[in-house]
Amino acid sequence: MTVASVQRFTWYINATILAMVFGLMAFFYVCGYTFLVWFSIPAALVYVIGFFLIHKGKLSIYVRMIYSWLTFYMCVTTVCLGYNYGFHLYCFSIIPTIFVSGYISYKLYGHRDKAMYPSLAIAAAYMVCTCYVGLRGPVYETNPKAAAFFWFFNAASVFFFLIFYSRFLIESIIDSEDKLIEAAHVDRLTKLYNRHYMLDRLSKVPDTAPGFLAMIDIDNFKKINDTYGHNGGDEVLRAISGRMKQNCENCVISRWGGEEFLILSESADADGREMLEHLRQSIEQAPVAFEEQDIRVTITIGMATQRSGRSIDEWVQDADSKLYFGKNNGKNCVVTEL
Ligand code: GH3
Ligand code: MG
Ligand code: MG
Repeated sequence: MTVASVQRFTWYINATILAMVFGLMAFFYVCGYTFLVWFSIPAALVYVIGFFLIHKGKLSIYVRMIYSWLTFYMCVTTVCLGYNYGFHLYCFSIIPTIFVSGYISYKLYGHRDKAMYPSLAIAAAYMVCTCYVGLRGPVYETNPKAAAFFWFFNAASVFFFLIFYSRFLIESIIDSEDKLIEAAHVDRLTKLYNRHYMLDRLSKVPDTAPGFLAMIDIDNFKKINDTYGHNGGDEVLRAISGRMKQNCENCVISRWGGEEFLILSESADADGREMLEHLRQSIEQAPVAFEEQDIRVTITIGMATQRSGRSIDEWVQDADSKLYFGKNNGKNCVVTEL
């Protein structure tokens, strides 16, 4: 959601309501409700000013102006025509949209427009005008055909707004939740799963799971940082992560620590050793491009085969010990046995 997209969306809403004002004006004229025909002129003016405010990006002022005007319009038309015309129904779409606008304003500008007080004011205005018309009757004589037409038109508009806004709200909530879940599970730099997620996944691996666990560590990474700078190091982390994803499509790959990764494969078919050896070679053979330089990178891998009843800690420890062995024996290798 961006300011520009909300501006564009609001522009369309404003244009739709302005068209509705002209439509209503024509019907008021046909029905002989002279006062309401004249009353439609300031109504149209409000929406013309609305275009100006939207264009200037003053969405908060626009929203308040429209809610105030719609409430006033609802009261005047209800007092003039009675409930049968359904203008009072707009109240039920205005209140949720005030809350949704507060939410949008929070997302865009970080501050929430107050929704509670305007909503209470609208509810009070609704009570007053409907009680008044209930006691005194409408100003104009009721025309059943016109009333049925207006009831249909107004009720349909209110339903449309309610359905549309509810859908928008729920989709925004789902979208935010998805982003939060991703932020909690995925490492921002490498876009791999983080250690927290991997621990969660490992805790669900059955005792007798096939597959393997591989602990991977970039060799002499400190030197890469020293030579090419931290940004160069970050680029290496991103590139190596991408290659791991390419080579181990059906694995769960996580950034276990700074330049350490843990790969979990639960597939009985995959030949872990062969796949990891292929990964090691592909990284060794294709340097990482960074600012017109080629950074040569190698990795060391410790691989632990089937869990075979061991605890998760023991399984991870097995992969780690093999990685440690590889580090102490020349690096740039895949260790599967000690
Ligand atoms: P070895 O071959 O034995 O693994 O040596 P190494 O230099 O790779 O390992 P060491 O543990 O000495 O250094 C790891 C370095 O990784 C230290 C730390 O500054 C760096 N590092 C950790 N996280 C990040 C990161 O997110 N970005 C960058 N650029 N560097 C990082
Ligand atoms: Mg290292
Ligand atoms: Mg390390």
